[in-house]
Amino acid sequence: MPLMPTLPTLTAVAAVLLAPGLEAAAAAATAPTALVIHGGAGVITREQLSVNDERAIRADLDAALDAGDAVLNAGGSALDAVTAAVVVLEDSPWFNAGKGAVFTADGGHELDAAIMEGHTRRAGAVTGVRTVRHPVRLARAVMEHTRHVFLAAEGAEAFADTRPEIERVGNDWFNTERRRQQLEAAREREQRQAAGDDVTPVPGAHFGTVGAVALDANGHIAVATSTGGMTNKRWGRIGDAPVIGAGTYANDQCGISGTGWGEFYLRAVAAHAICARVALRGDPIAAAADDVINNVIPALGGDGGAIGLDARGTIVMPFNTAGMYRGWIHPDGRRGTAVFREP
Ligand code: ASP
Repeated sequence: MPLMPTLPTLTAVAAVLLAPGLEAAAAAATAPTALVIHGGAGVITREQLSVNDERAIRADLDAALDAGDAVLNAGGSALDAVTAAVVVLEDSPWFNAGKGAVFTADGGHELDAAIMEGHTRRAGAVTGVRTVRHPVRLARAVMEHTRHVFLAAEGAEAFADTRPEIERVGNDWFNTERRRQQLEAAREREQRQAAGDDVTPVPGAHFGTVGAVALDANGHIAVATSTGGMTNKRWGRIGDAPVIGAGTYANDQCGISGTGWGEFYLRAVAAHAICARVALRGDPIAAAADDVINNVIPALGGDGGAIGLDARGTIVMPFNTAGMYRGWIHPDGRRGTAVFREP
């Protein structure tokens, strides 16, 4: 006759069954965290950047690292950490996202952003928004409060109207004098090109996008990217940044945020291409990111960089341009910021 298990027996069985999982959870909860951010890749040389400007840019990168790291140190999620870091970068006039976004051909601003959580593969994105101070927050609201992933232009604005926590500003709030001069330069260049006497690409037309990738104490990865796109863009042009897989991607082993000439990142499905090399081929993330950024993208004719990390907190920051604004905090606490190829 089968014996009815007594309560203590059940408790003991449950303890044995649960123990490995609990141990794993306890170990994971104390695992080291990591954070990496970028403020765009491009023609950034020592000759073009004054010492004072470099100092100001690195201070804002540091502030973004502080914001993300505070979340991670308090045991917060990678999702909260990348949101916090990108909000700081969106508020900085130095980067092409939020305040300081580049101008469109008609003299306005159209902002793109995306966010993704690796272990759940949840994602949210917006494109062509004109009145949202922190597009990354709207992307996150799309992820958390709709059944959709990607909202565009008027629809995204209408959704923002339903979310009181999303701060709104007039489109000219994003104006900065530096970006206006870049628009003027791009227009002049375009006229010369139309006249057939200058066919070189506009330098700096596409850099300054911001992004962050974080690994939290539970071993979860999240990524966020935010941008004004390319100077002088028209016809509702959408780059790679808000397109899941192109400029922004995460799974449970890999997270990537790209920055560069978006048309080429779209065609290479760059961020996903890096994480796919890790997942399917077993490439170390450094080899995977190097291959896509230094081989695949240039072979297509594009340029730019990317930041990312894997589930162990291995940080990568490859770029094929003169410079990339970047900052990092390794799992062992080593921290820094850099602009040029040689830090
Ligand atoms: N990738 C962005 C875009 O093409 C630009 C950038 O990274 O700076 O919209």
